[in-house]
Amino acid sequence: MKKIGVLTSGGDAPGMNAAVRAVVRTACYLGMEVVGVRYGYKGLLEEDFIELNMRNVCDIIHRGGTKIYTARCPEFRGEEAVRKAVDVAKKNGIEGLVVVGGDGSFRGARDLSNFGLPCVAIPGTIDNDIVCTDYTIGFDTCLNTVQALVDRLRDTIESHSRCMVVEVMGARAGYLTLNAGIAVGATAILIPEIPYDIEKNVIEKIRRTASTGKHHFIVMVAEGVRFRDGITVDEIAKKIEEETGVEARSIVLGHIQRGGSPSVRDRVVASQMGHKAVHLLHEGKSNRVVVMHGETITDHDINEALEMSKTIDKDLYNCAMEISL
Ligand code: ADP
Repeated sequence: MKKIGVLTSGGDAPGMNAAVRAVVRTACYLGMEVVGVRYGYKGLLEEDFIELNMRNVCDIIHRGGTKIYTARCPEFRGEEAVRKAVDVAKKNGIEGLVVVGGDGSFRGARDLSNFGLPCVAIPGTIDNDIVCTDYTIGFDTCLNTVQALVDRLRDTIESHSRCMVVEVMGARAGYLTLNAGIAVGATAILIPEIPYDIEKNVIEKIRRTASTGKHHFIVMVAEGVRFRDGITVDEIAKKIEEETGVEARSIVLGHIQRGGSPSVRDRVVASQMGHKAVHLLHEGKSNRVVVMHGETITDHDINEALEMSKTIDKDLYNCAMEISL
Protein backbone atom coordinates (compact mmCIF):
# COMPACT_ATOMS: atom_id res chain seq x y z
CA MET A 1 0.00 0.00 0.00
CA LYS A 2 1.46 3.35 -1.07
CA LYS A 3 -1.27 5.83 -0.22
CA ILE A 4 -4.03 5.84 2.40
CA GLY A 5 -6.75 8.28 3.40
CA VAL A 6 -7.99 9.35 6.82
CA LEU A 7 -11.29 10.99 7.74
CA THR A 8 -13.29 11.92 10.83
CA SER A 9 -17.05 11.37 10.71
CA GLY A 10 -20.18 11.95 12.81
CA GLY A 11 -19.94 13.93 16.07
CA ASP A 12 -16.55 15.46 16.89
CA ALA A 13 -14.63 14.31 19.95
CA PRO A 14 -11.48 15.59 21.69
CA GLY A 15 -8.60 13.33 20.69
CA MET A 16 -9.60 12.94 17.04
CA ASN A 17 -6.66 15.16 16.09
CA ALA A 18 -4.27 12.98 18.07
CA ALA A 19 -5.60 9.95 16.17
CA VAL A 20 -5.15 11.67 12.79
CA ARG A 21 -1.63 12.73 13.76
CA ALA A 22 -0.74 9.15 14.75
CA VAL A 23 -2.19 7.81 11.48
CA VAL A 24 -0.04 10.24 9.48
CA ARG A 25 3.13 9.69 11.46
CA THR A 26 2.79 5.88 11.37
CA ALA A 27 2.10 5.92 7.63
CA CYS A 28 5.19 8.11 7.10
CA TYR A 29 7.22 5.70 9.23
CA LEU A 30 6.04 2.81 7.02
CA GLY A 31 6.73 4.74 3.80
CA MET A 32 3.14 5.54 2.83
CA GLU A 33 1.54 8.81 1.75
CA VAL A 34 -1.58 10.15 3.50
CA VAL A 35 -4.53 12.09 2.12
CA GLY A 36 -6.72 13.91 4.63
CA VAL A 37 -10.37 13.67 3.58
CA ARG A 38 -12.17 16.75 4.89
CA TYR A 39 -15.75 16.60 6.22
CA GLY A 40 -16.03 12.81 6.51
CA TYR A 41 -17.83 10.77 3.86
CA LYS A 42 -19.23 13.96 2.32
CA GLY A 43 -15.67 15.08 1.55
CA LEU A 44 -14.84 11.68 0.10
CA LEU A 45 -17.72 11.99 -2.38
CA GLU A 46 -16.74 15.57 -3.22
CA GLU A 47 -12.98 14.84 -3.41
CA ASP A 48 -12.32 17.41 -0.70
CA PHE A 49 -8.75 16.31 0.02
CA ILE A 50 -5.64 17.79 1.63
CA GLU A 51 -2.19 16.32 1.73
CA LEU A 52 -1.11 15.37 5.24
CA ASN A 53 2.54 14.91 6.06
CA MET A 54 4.67 14.46 9.15
CA ARG A 55 5.12 18.23 9.57
CA ASN A 56 1.64 19.61 8.87
CA VAL A 57 0.14 17.47 11.65
CA CYS A 58 2.37 19.32 14.14
CA ASP A 59 0.57 21.36 16.77
CA ILE A 60 -2.73 19.47 16.69
CA ILE A 61 -2.29 16.80 19.39
CA HIS A 62 -3.50 19.20 22.08
CA ARG A 63 -6.46 20.61 20.18
CA GLY A 64 -10.10 19.57 20.61
CA GLY A 65 -12.46 19.05 17.68
CA THR A 66 -11.05 17.81 14.38
CA LYS A 67 -8.74 19.81 12.12
CA ILE A 68 -9.85 17.84 9.05
CA TYR A 69 -13.48 18.66 9.89
CA THR A 70 -16.38 16.29 10.23
CA ALA A 71 -19.90 16.01 8.82
CA ARG A 72 -22.95 13.82 8.63
CA CYS A 73 -23.63 12.46 5.16
CA PRO A 74 -27.05 10.74 5.06
CA GLU A 75 -26.71 9.70 1.40
CA PHE A 76 -23.82 7.43 2.38
CA ARG A 77 -26.37 4.90 3.66
CA GLY A 78 -27.16 4.14 0.00
CA GLU A 79 -25.17 1.81 -2.25
CA GLU A 80 -24.77 4.35 -5.03
CA ALA A 81 -22.83 6.79 -2.83
CA VAL A 82 -20.60 4.03 -1.48
CA ARG A 83 -19.75 2.82 -5.01
CA LYS A 84 -19.00 6.39 -6.04
CA ALA A 85 -16.70 6.83 -3.03
CA VAL A 86 -14.77 3.67 -3.92
CA ASP A 87 -14.31 4.98 -7.49
CA VAL A 88 -13.16 8.38 -6.16
CA ALA A 89 -10.61 6.66 -3.90
CA LYS A 90 -9.31 4.49 -6.75
CA LYS A 91 -9.04 7.49 -9.09
CA ASN A 92 -6.94 9.30 -6.48
CA GLY A 93 -4.70 6.32 -5.74
CA ILE A 94 -6.12 5.85 -2.21
CA GLU A 95 -5.71 2.15 -1.41
CA GLY A 96 -6.97 2.10 2.17
CA LEU A 97 -8.92 4.35 4.56
CA VAL A 98 -8.88 5.03 8.29
CA VAL A 99 -12.28 6.21 9.59
CA VAL A 100 -12.51 7.87 13.01
CA GLY A 101 -16.08 8.05 14.32
CA GLY A 102 -18.96 6.26 15.99
CA ASP A 103 -20.89 3.16 15.02
CA GLY A 104 -22.74 4.97 12.21
CA SER A 105 -19.37 5.75 10.66
CA PHE A 106 -18.34 2.10 11.15
CA ARG A 107 -21.28 1.04 8.95
CA GLY A 108 -19.95 3.31 6.21
CA ALA A 109 -16.46 1.78 6.63
CA ARG A 110 -17.97 -1.71 6.43
CA ASP A 111 -19.78 -0.83 3.19
CA LEU A 112 -16.65 0.68 1.64
CA SER A 113 -14.66 -2.44 2.61
CA ASN A 114 -17.33 -4.66 1.03
CA PHE A 115 -17.14 -2.67 -2.22
CA GLY A 116 -13.36 -2.92 -2.44
CA LEU A 117 -11.79 -0.09 -0.42
CA PRO A 118 -10.06 -1.62 2.64
CA CYS A 119 -11.07 0.30 5.76
CA VAL A 120 -10.06 0.30 9.41
CA ALA A 121 -12.26 2.18 11.89
CA ILE A 122 -11.28 3.87 15.16
CA PRO A 123 -13.92 4.55 17.85
CA GLY A 124 -14.10 8.31 18.34
CA THR A 125 -17.09 9.59 20.34
CA ILE A 126 -17.57 11.28 23.69
CA ASP A 127 -20.48 8.92 24.45
CA ASN A 128 -18.46 5.70 24.98
CA ASP A 129 -21.54 3.97 23.52
CA ILE A 130 -19.72 1.65 21.12
CA VAL A 131 -20.41 -1.93 21.97
CA CYS A 132 -17.17 -3.60 20.84
CA THR A 133 -14.74 -1.48 22.86
CA ASP A 134 -14.29 -0.58 26.51
CA TYR A 135 -13.12 2.89 25.55
CA THR A 136 -13.82 5.52 22.90
CA ILE A 137 -11.65 8.54 22.13
CA GLY A 138 -13.07 11.68 23.74
CA PHE A 139 -14.82 10.05 26.70
CA ASP A 140 -12.24 10.95 29.34
CA THR A 141 -11.91 14.58 28.26
CA CYS A 142 -15.67 15.01 28.16
CA LEU A 143 -16.07 13.40 31.57
CA ASN A 144 -13.54 15.80 33.03
CA THR A 145 -15.28 18.74 31.36
CA VAL A 146 -18.66 17.72 32.83
CA GLN A 147 -17.09 17.30 36.26
CA ALA A 148 -15.45 20.76 36.08
CA LEU A 149 -18.70 22.41 34.97
CA VAL A 150 -20.84 20.73 37.63
CA ASP A 151 -18.27 21.57 40.33
CA ARG A 152 -18.91 25.21 39.47
CA LEU A 153 -22.66 24.70 39.69
CA ARG A 154 -22.17 23.14 43.10
CA ASP A 155 -20.57 26.35 44.44
CA THR A 156 -23.65 28.35 43.59
CA ILE A 157 -26.32 25.82 44.63
CA GLU A 158 -24.51 25.25 47.91
CA SER A 159 -24.60 29.00 48.61
CA HIS A 160 -28.35 29.17 47.96
CA SER A 161 -29.35 25.72 49.30
CA ARG A 162 -30.77 24.79 45.91
CA CYS A 163 -31.13 21.75 43.75
CA MET A 164 -29.60 21.69 40.25
CA VAL A 165 -30.91 19.25 37.66
CA VAL A 166 -28.24 18.79 34.99
CA GLU A 167 -28.78 17.25 31.54
CA VAL A 168 -25.64 15.54 30.27
CA MET A 169 -25.04 14.69 26.59
CA GLY A 170 -24.37 11.09 25.71
CA ALA A 171 -26.80 10.16 22.93
CA ARG A 172 -28.85 7.12 24.04
CA ALA A 173 -26.24 5.96 26.54
CA GLY A 174 -25.76 6.74 30.23
CA TYR A 175 -22.00 6.10 30.65
CA LEU A 176 -21.03 9.78 30.80
CA THR A 177 -23.86 10.62 33.20
CA LEU A 178 -23.20 7.68 35.52
CA ASN A 179 -19.45 8.29 35.76
CA ALA A 180 -19.83 12.06 36.01
CA GLY A 181 -22.62 11.60 38.58
CA ILE A 182 -20.26 9.67 40.84
CA ALA A 183 -17.47 12.20 40.29
CA VAL A 184 -19.61 15.21 41.26
CA GLY A 185 -21.34 13.52 44.20
CA ALA A 186 -24.83 13.57 42.70
CA THR A 187 -27.82 12.81 44.93
CA ALA A 188 -29.68 11.14 42.05
CA ILE A 189 -28.66 9.83 38.64
CA LEU A 190 -31.12 9.01 35.84
CA ILE A 191 -29.86 7.04 32.82
CA PRO A 192 -31.78 5.37 30.00
CA GLU A 193 -30.40 1.89 30.67
CA ILE A 194 -31.92 1.62 34.16
CA PRO A 195 -35.68 1.99 34.81
CA TYR A 196 -36.43 4.81 37.22
CA ASP A 197 -39.32 6.37 39.09
CA ILE A 198 -38.96 10.12 39.69
CA GLU A 199 -40.96 9.88 42.92
CA LYS A 200 -38.85 7.09 44.41
CA ASN A 201 -35.43 7.76 42.85
CA VAL A 202 -35.39 11.56 43.03
CA ILE A 203 -38.07 13.10 45.27
CA GLU A 204 -37.84 10.58 48.11
CA LYS A 205 -34.06 10.63 47.96
CA ILE A 206 -33.97 14.42 48.27
CA ARG A 207 -36.44 14.28 51.19
CA ARG A 208 -34.39 11.56 52.91
CA THR A 209 -31.02 13.28 52.50
CA ALA A 210 -32.55 16.63 53.50
CA SER A 211 -33.80 15.04 56.74
CA THR A 212 -30.17 14.13 57.59
CA GLY A 213 -28.97 17.72 57.11
CA LYS A 214 -28.12 17.98 53.40
CA HIS A 215 -29.32 21.25 51.88
CA HIS A 216 -28.06 21.28 48.30
CA PHE A 217 -28.60 18.60 45.69
CA ILE A 218 -27.30 17.65 42.27
CA VAL A 219 -29.46 15.50 40.01
CA MET A 220 -27.71 14.20 36.89
CA VAL A 221 -29.92 13.22 33.95
CA ALA A 222 -28.70 11.64 30.70
CA GLU A 223 -30.09 13.23 27.53
CA GLY A 224 -31.09 9.68 26.58
CA VAL A 225 -33.79 9.90 29.28
CA ARG A 226 -35.37 12.81 27.40
CA PHE A 227 -34.99 10.98 24.06
CA ARG A 228 -36.71 7.91 25.49
CA ASP A 229 -39.35 9.35 27.84
CA GLY A 230 -39.77 12.92 26.61
CA ILE A 231 -39.23 14.36 30.12
CA THR A 232 -37.01 17.45 30.37
CA VAL A 233 -34.70 18.59 33.16
CA ASP A 234 -36.88 21.68 33.51
CA GLU A 235 -39.94 19.50 34.21
CA ILE A 236 -37.96 17.43 36.71
CA ALA A 237 -36.77 20.60 38.49
CA LYS A 238 -40.35 21.95 38.73
CA LYS A 239 -41.55 18.67 40.21
CA ILE A 240 -38.73 18.66 42.78
CA GLU A 241 -39.55 22.22 43.84
CA GLU A 242 -43.30 21.51 44.09
CA GLU A 243 -42.93 18.30 46.05
CA THR A 244 -39.95 19.00 48.32
CA GLY A 245 -40.02 22.78 48.70
CA VAL A 246 -36.34 22.91 47.70
CA GLU A 247 -35.70 25.67 45.16
CA ALA A 248 -34.66 23.89 41.97
CA ARG A 249 -33.00 25.00 38.73
CA SER A 250 -32.14 23.10 35.58
CA ILE A 251 -29.39 23.31 33.00
CA VAL A 252 -28.60 21.53 29.73
CA LEU A 253 -24.81 21.36 29.38
CA GLY A 254 -25.09 20.75 25.63
CA HIS A 255 -22.22 21.29 23.20
CA ILE A 256 -19.91 22.91 25.75
CA GLN A 257 -19.22 19.33 26.85
CA ARG A 258 -17.67 18.44 23.50
CA GLY A 259 -14.85 20.97 23.30
CA GLY A 260 -11.52 21.50 25.00
CA SER A 261 -8.01 20.20 24.91
CA PRO A 262 -7.92 16.38 25.05
CA SER A 263 -6.84 14.73 28.30
CA VAL A 264 -3.68 12.66 28.60
CA ARG A 265 -5.74 9.47 28.39
CA ASP A 266 -7.45 10.56 25.17
CA ARG A 267 -4.18 11.66 23.58
CA VAL A 268 -2.45 8.40 24.45
CA VAL A 269 -5.31 6.05 23.48
CA ALA A 270 -5.93 8.01 20.24
CA SER A 271 -2.23 7.74 19.37
CA GLN A 272 -2.23 3.99 20.07
CA MET A 273 -5.39 3.46 18.01
CA GLY A 274 -4.16 5.55 15.07
CA HIS A 275 -0.88 3.64 15.08
CA LYS A 276 -2.65 0.27 15.22
CA ALA A 277 -5.09 1.18 12.41
CA VAL A 278 -2.28 1.97 9.96
CA HIS A 279 -0.41 -1.23 10.81
CA LEU A 280 -3.60 -3.22 10.12
CA LEU A 281 -3.99 -1.62 6.68
CA HIS A 282 -0.28 -2.15 5.99
CA GLU A 283 -0.70 -5.85 6.82
CA GLY A 284 -3.48 -6.05 4.22
CA LYS A 285 -6.38 -6.20 6.69
CA SER A 286 -9.78 -4.73 5.88
CA ASN A 287 -13.15 -4.21 7.58
CA ARG A 288 -11.53 -4.04 11.03
CA VAL A 289 -12.20 -1.80 13.99
CA VAL A 290 -9.49 -0.96 16.52
CA VAL A 291 -10.74 -1.53 20.07
CA MET A 292 -9.58 -1.40 23.67
CA HIS A 293 -10.17 -4.29 26.06
CA GLY A 294 -8.98 -3.44 29.54
CA GLU A 295 -5.77 -1.60 28.71
CA THR A 296 -4.99 -3.66 25.60
CA ILE A 297 -5.39 -2.32 22.06
CA THR A 298 -6.62 -4.99 19.64
CA ASP A 299 -9.06 -5.27 16.71
CA HIS A 300 -12.35 -6.89 15.63
CA ASP A 301 -14.19 -7.57 12.40
CA ILE A 302 -16.58 -4.61 11.93
CA ASN A 303 -19.61 -6.86 11.21
CA GLU A 304 -19.04 -8.83 14.42
CA ALA A 305 -18.40 -5.62 16.35
CA LEU A 306 -21.70 -4.09 15.21
CA GLU A 307 -23.62 -7.15 16.44
CA MET A 308 -22.28 -7.10 20.02
CA SER A 309 -24.44 -5.71 22.82
CA LYS A 310 -23.15 -3.41 25.53
CA THR A 311 -24.68 -3.14 28.97
CA ILE A 312 -24.21 -0.57 31.67
CA ASP A 313 -21.88 -1.54 34.53
CA LYS A 314 -24.41 -2.56 37.22
CA ASP A 315 -21.74 -2.62 39.95
CA LEU A 316 -20.85 0.97 39.16
CA TYR A 317 -24.53 1.93 39.20
CA ASN A 318 -25.10 0.18 42.54
CA CYS A 319 -22.00 1.89 43.94
CA ALA A 320 -23.40 5.28 42.85
CA MET A 321 -26.76 4.53 44.50
CA GLU A 322 -25.26 3.34 47.80
CA ILE A 323 -22.85 6.24 48.29
CA SER A 324 -25.32 9.00 47.40
CA LEU A 325 -27.02 8.97 50.80
P1 ADP B 1 -21.47 8.32 14.46
O1 ADP B 1 -20.47 7.82 13.47
O2 ADP B 1 -20.87 9.27 15.46
O3 ADP B 1 -22.31 7.21 15.05
P2 ADP B 1 -23.65 9.01 12.69
O4 ADP B 1 -24.55 7.92 13.12
O5 ADP B 1 -24.24 10.35 12.42
O6 ADP B 1 -22.47 9.29 13.70
O7 ADP B 1 -22.91 8.49 11.38
C1 ADP B 1 -21.93 9.29 10.74
C2 ADP B 1 -22.01 9.08 9.26
O8 ADP B 1 -21.75 7.69 8.96
C3 ADP B 1 -23.38 9.34 8.64
O9 ADP B 1 -23.61 10.69 8.38
C4 ADP B 1 -23.27 8.53 7.37
O10 ADP B 1 -22.47 9.22 6.42
C5 ADP B 1 -22.50 7.30 7.83
N1 ADP B 1 -23.44 6.23 8.19
C6 ADP B 1 -24.26 6.18 9.26
N2 ADP B 1 -25.03 5.07 9.25
C7 ADP B 1 -24.70 4.41 8.13
C8 ADP B 1 -25.14 3.16 7.54
N3 ADP B 1 -26.10 2.43 8.09
N4 ADP B 1 -24.56 2.79 6.39
C9 ADP B 1 -23.59 3.53 5.81
N5 ADP B 1 -23.13 4.70 6.32
C10 ADP B 1 -23.67 5.13 7.45
